[in-house]
Amino acid sequence: MDCLFCKIAANEIPSKKIYEDEMILAYHDIAPQSDVHALVIPKEHIASSANDINSSNSSVIAYIFEKIPEIAKILGVDSYRIINNCGEKAGQTVKHLHFHILSGDNLGERLV
Ligand code: AMP
Ligand code: ZN
Repeated sequence: MDCLFCKIAANEIPSKKIYEDEMILAYHDIAPQSDVHALVIPKEHIASSANDINSSNSSVIAYIFEKIPEIAKILGVDSYRIINNCGEKAGQTVKHLHFHILSGDNLGERLV
């Protein structure tokens, strides 16, 4: 399958890994938009967005959110924003479900 994040999960494309287990992978975004900008993905290809979360794939999403505090701890941040861009008009460019973790001084009270 020609999916960038599947290739990263399979180590076919290198990434700066933060956390990995059998279900999920967290790594640094290649074009960080804040001091800390990480991505968390399920290793299984969930195509393509939050619109596609359903009862057959939601357990890994719950697992990602259980693990995010651990990932944030590894990153050394306790204030952060979790973002999912759902759909092209919301800025989604990679069609493998993923969550952004952003932290840093450039995060204000406004979301956008
Ligand atoms: P989105 O725009 O929400 O689909 O997020 C995709 C993210 O993937 C963007 O923030 C990109 O900078 C990031 N990205 C693209 N290619 C890579 C890569 N090879 N390694 C790490 N992050 C990447
Ligand atoms: Zn994929």
